[in-house]
Amino acid sequence: MIILQIALPVPLRRTFDYLPNGEFKTDLTPANRSEFIGCRCEVPFGKGNGRKLVGIITDIKTEASLDISKLKHITRLIDQSPLVSTHFFELCMWASTYYQHALGEVFDTALPKKLRQGEQITLTPQILWSATTEARGLSDNALKNARTQKAALNHLINRSLSLAELKDLCIKNTTLKELEKKNLAVKIEQTPKPTPPSVNPTPYSLSQEQSQALEHFSLQGFNTWLLEGSTGSGKTEIYLQAIAQAISNGNQALVLIPEIGLSPQTIARFNARFNAEIVTLNSAMNDTERAESWLKAKLGIADIVIGTRSSIFTPMPRLGVIIIDEEHDLSFKQQDGLRYNARDLAIVRAQKLNIPVILGSATPTLETLHNARSGRFQHLKLTAKPKHQSETVIDLQDVCGKTLYQGLSQESLAELKHTLDQGQQALVFINRRGFAPALICHHCGWVAKCGNCDANMTVHHHPHHLRCHHCDHQKPLLRQCPSCFSPELTDIGTGTEKVEQLLQQQFPDHPVIRVDRDTTQRKNAFAQLLEPVYEGQPSLLIGTQMLVKGHHFPKLTLVVVVDADGGLLSGDFRGTERTAQILLQVAGRAGREELSGKVIIQTHHPDHPLLETLFQSGYSQFASELLEERQLTEMPPFSYLAIVRAESRNPQEAIQFLTSCRESLNHHSSATANVHLLGPLPAAMERKNQNYRFFVQIKSTNRPTLQALLCSAVPSFEKIPGNAKVRWSVDVDPQEMP
Ligand code: ADP
Ligand code: ZN
Ligand code: ZN
Repeated sequence: MIILQIALPVPLRRTFDYLPNGEFKTDLTPANRSEFIGCRCEVPFGKGNGRKLVGIITDIKTEASLDISKLKHITRLIDQSPLVSTHFFELCMWASTYYQHALGEVFDTALPKKLRQGEQITLTPQILWSATTEARGLSDNALKNARTQKAALNHLINRSLSLAELKDLCIKNTTLKELEKKNLAVKIEQTPKPTPPSVNPTPYSLSQEQSQALEHFSLQGFNTWLLEGSTGSGKTEIYLQAIAQAISNGNQALVLIPEIGLSPQTIARFNARFNAEIVTLNSAMNDTERAESWLKAKLGIADIVIGTRSSIFTPMPRLGVIIIDEEHDLSFKQQDGLRYNARDLAIVRAQKLNIPVILGSATPTLETLHNARSGRFQHLKLTAKPKHQSETVIDLQDVCGKTLYQGLSQESLAELKHTLDQGQQALVFINRRGFAPALICHHCGWVAKCGNCDANMTVHHHPHHLRCHHCDHQKPLLRQCPSCFSPELTDIGTGTEKVEQLLQQQFPDHPVIRVDRDTTQRKNAFAQLLEPVYEGQPSLLIGTQMLVKGHHFPKLTLVVVVDADGGLLSGDFRGTERTAQILLQVAGRAGREELSGKVIIQTHHPDHPLLETLFQSGYSQFASELLEERQLTEMPPFSYLAIVRAESRNPQEAIQFLTSCRESLNHHSSATANVHLLGPLPAAMERKNQNYRFFVQIKSTNRPTLQALLCSAVPSFEKIPGNAKVRWSVDVDPQEMP
C-alpha cells in the first residue's frame, strides 16, 4: 500500500493522507520518494468531494494514520518532478515548527499565487529585433532617403535588441515594421537564458572605512554581518560590492528591502552597476509578473533578486549572499497568517546554505545590536559621511505653552518659509493620516466613536467623511451633534490633511505635496506626486512614515517633526526604540548633498532623557541605555516572547479559550522550567471590528525552553472545546504587543 502524505492550505497543524491516482508514471515506493516529494497535487477535501485543494506531497509512506478504507484518491498530479528544492522544503518546515504554523499554510505564504492555484508557469519569450543577412550585405548608399531606418538598422547590425533597449534608443515600432517589409530586419522570440553577468566599475574610489569594512567582510561560509551606518554613510555601496563579488563567483544575490522602500533610484543604481538579470518582487506587481520573477530566480536566470518580505522564500539555486536593508523595519515581520520575520528567516536560510547574510541599518534593532555586541554577529561600522555631505543641525524645539497653528509652531512656519525662499525643499513629518484624529462636540463633549471598535473616528476632508482607521468603517461627516444637536462640532489634533490645508494657505505659490496611504493608492501615484520634488522645485512635502524610506531628495534641507511625544508615551515596550528609529530616519532625509540640513523636532519634553541621549550622544549610546533597561526588566533581547491571541464576538468565549490554553501551557511546562505566563488579558484596544480581543503572553529567558513548550502545548489548543468559535493565533517573537 502506498500512501501520499500531503500538506494542505488549511489551518490544522498536520498533514493529510491520500491514495495516488493513475497519473504516476513511475512505480511509487518509499525508496524513490525524492522524485515525488515537493510535487503539487489536487485533492478533494472535506465532506463530499466538492471542495478541491492544491497541496504538496511531503512524504510517501506504506502505512496510513487513518483507516485505509476512509482514504480518498488525489484527483490530479500537477507536477511530474518536484516543484521546489529540498532546501526550500527545509526552510518551510523550519518556519512551520518555529512559528507554530501549519506546513500547508507556510507553503501557501511561500509560493506565488499562480502556483498555489495549481497553474503551471512558464517564461514569456523575449522579443528581439535582429538584422537579416541581406541587411548585413547592404551597400552604403542604401536607405539614403530613410535616415531613421538606416540609423536603426545600424544598431541592429551591431547586435540584436530587446524591446526595452529599442525604447531606450528611441527606435519606433513603425521604423522596425518598415525595415521588416524590406526584409532587412526580423522579429525573433527567444526564451530567456542565463547569460554571464558583468560588473561595471565603481564610479568613485571607496572611502577608507568602506575599504576596511570590505576587507573584513567575507563571502566564505555562514556569518551574520551587521553593517551599521547612518543614512548616506555608504552602506548601499557595500551591498553593491558584496553582490559584485558574489555574481562574479557565479552566484546569485538576494536583497530584501522594506515595503514601499524600492525607489526607482535604487533600481537605477543597481542597473548602472551590473550588467546582469535583476528581477524585483513586490506588492505592486500582478500575479503573472511575480510568477515570472520567481521562475527566473528558480531557473538561475536572475542574478539578483530585490524584493520585500516574502521574497525570502524565493528559490535560488546558486544563492551566495543575502542582504537585508533597513533590518529594523517592521515590514519584515508579517503580522497575520504565518507571523514570520523575514530577517530571522534570512539568517536561518544563510546558515543552512553556509553563506553570509548582511543586515544593514542606521538604527539596528536592540535584538540585532545585542547579538553584534555579544559577538554572535560580526559588526561592521561606517561612521563618516562621504566628503561632500554636510552636517545636520538638530533642534529639539520646546512647544510647551506655545500657540500651534494646526500643529505647527510659529518658528517652524518661519523656517519653512526661509527654506522655500532659499529655493530649497522641506518635509513636514506627521505619522497620522486624515484631517484630525477625533471629532468632539464643543457643547456637550460627545465624541464620534467607531461602533465596531474601542476607537475614535478620524475626520477626513478628501473626501469629507469619518473613518475608523482600525476597521475601515465609514460614516458621513456630521454637521450636528447627535447627542445635544448643537452644530458646534470641532476636531481635535492634527493629521496630514490638516497640515496640507495650512501649508497651502500659507505658501500658495509652491507645490504642497501630501504623501500618505490615501494619496498613493493608485499605481505610479508615488512617482507622479514626487515629480516636482525630483525636478528640484522649491516645494513642501507632508508625509507619514511611508515617505521616509528609501527616497533621496537632494534639495531637501529642512525636516519638521510635528509631534515626537506620541511615540515616547506609547504603552508598547518597544515604543521608545521605534520612535528613535523613525526620528533618525526622518532626520536622515535632510541635507544629503552639498546643502546643509536642519531638523526641527517639536516636543513637549525637550529634556526627555532618551531624546537627549539620542541627539547628543547618538543611537549607539541610546541603545545601550535601553538595553540596560531591558535587561533589568528581563524583556527581549534578554528574554523570548510568544503570544497567543484570541478574539470573538462574545468576550467570554475568547477568555475561556485562553484560560484553557494557559492551563495546557502550565501542564506542559515542568515545575522547574523557566517560563512566565501572563493573562488572559484584554488587548490595548479590547474591541476591534466587533470582536473582543485577549491574549496570553509566554516569556522565558531560554529560547529552547520556550520552543519546546510551544511544540508540546500548541497542538493541544486545536482540541480545546469551542476553539472553532474564536479566532486565535500564535505569535512567536511578536513585534507589536496586543
Ligand atoms: P546609505 O546606503 O548608507 O544610505 P549610500 O551607499 O547610498 O549610503 O551612499 C550615499 C551617497 O554617497 C550615494 O549617493 C552614493 O552614491 C555616495 N557614495 C557612497 N560611497 C561613496 C564614495 N566612496 N565616494 C563618493 N560617493 C559615495
Ligand atoms: Zn453635543
Ligand atoms: Zn472601527
